[in-house]
Amino acid sequence: MKKAHVAKLFDRLCAVLPEPESELDYSNPYTLLVAVVLSAQATDAGVNKVTGPLFKRADTAQKMLDLGEARLKEHIKSIGLFNNKAKNIIALSRMLVQRYGGEVPRERASLQSLPGVGRKSANVVMNAAFGAPTIAVDTHIFRVCNRTGLAPGETPHAVELKLDKVVPPERKLHAHHWLILHGRYVCKARKPECPSCVIRDLCRYRAKTTLEAPATAAKHARSGKAPGKAPAR
Ligand code: SF4
Repeated sequence: MKKAHVAKLFDRLCAVLPEPESELDYSNPYTLLVAVVLSAQATDAGVNKVTGPLFKRADTAQKMLDLGEARLKEHIKSIGLFNNKAKNIIALSRMLVQRYGGEVPRERASLQSLPGVGRKSANVVMNAAFGAPTIAVDTHIFRVCNRTGLAPGETPHAVELKLDKVVPPERKLHAHHWLILHGRYVCKARKPECPSCVIRDLCRYRAKTTLEAPATAAKHARSGKAPGKAPAR
């Protein structure tokens, strides 16, 4: 995608949501870290349901250790892989208390040394808790970047490296949330909402959805003609 188009793409996503935020509920870097660990293969809404009561009991590493693994499991048992996640949360809390004075470290290497915390989770915490210009590539961002041509790549890491090169510096802080929310609510996996998408004229996805009646769409498909283009902006 051309540099000018990348700039336009972020201008438009910014116009829709100037101050995007995580949909995970948290009150400090520690609760964000725990929420991120819980969110692997789970929805943010499902995570928020359990973290509300959990964080009332334990919103620091020491309080989580005091709560203990068995009671933690009781809180998070509606979340997938909860046994493993509980083990990781207790182990990372212990490490935070023993090595980092109970604080969440800001550096990638230290974050990734914590049990259950990979590159993607570290990027989320660095960005949302500490304001670092990192972009965590999840399934939504991976799809949006490949469909639009913004940062195509075969793996999340390849997409992340490409994003790092193409996203304008002044857009990097919020790029993660703009792209994830766009993928979650507009550029959806099964049926993207192309007709109402604010970046449709910039997007290179060939199979854009249209508002055409099914019979007309079928006619286009048979004739091989592309339906009308979205108006240029
Ligand atoms: S035009 Fe369609 S495919 Fe392209 S970004 Fe928008 S919703 Fe996604």
